[in-house]
Amino acid sequence: MSTAFIALGSNLCKPVSQVEKALCAIDKHYLIKLEKVSAFYSSPAIGPGVQPSYCNAVAQISTLLSSEKLLKVLQKVEENQGRQRERKWAARTIDLDILMYDQLSSTCRQLLLPHPRMHKRAFVLKPLSDLLTENFVLRNESISQLLDKCRDKSKVKLIRRYDLKARRSF
Ligand code: AMP
Repeated sequence: MSTAFIALGSNLCKPVSQVEKALCAIDKHYLIKLEKVSAFYSSPAIGPGVQPSYCNAVAQISTLLSSEKLLKVLQKVEENQGRQRERKWAARTIDLDILMYDQLSSTCRQLLLPHPRMHKRAFVLKPLSDLLTENFVLRNESISQLLDKCRDKSKVKLIRRYDLKARRSF
């Protein structure tokens, strides 16, 4: 059984509902179990143009899927929720990224692990910090050290919490 961390983000079509819907879809897969879900946060969009704010969260799962198969499942969830692959940074109904898959390190372009930009993004580190203990080391640092060092000072605000049993935020 492997452990993976998935970043979820949405800034279109009721972002909170999109994130909840994606969590349900991920959990429905017979080879995936949702173990923990961070609170939901809002963060300003990076661009282009004026865009609605994002709803961001991170989920910890256990899975019998390989990292490649997991990526395929996540891409199918994105597709089912109407994700359009337009310009980079364009607004999206749902974006699902694998942040880490066990201790796996991959430099394959289709699946970079750990996710190469996760330590630069406050909207990833903040929800991730809900799930990790200080003993967890990533890039030789703890999650709070990574957050302190993170140059992305965009405002990441707590908006809702997630009830794992009820499978919804409140
Ligand atoms: P995005 O626009 O963020 O959805 O990026 C999707 C592209 O990034 C796909 O072509 C994936 O194969 C690739 N990719 C590389 N590493 C990862 C990762 N760790 N998680 C999700 N997608 C990844």
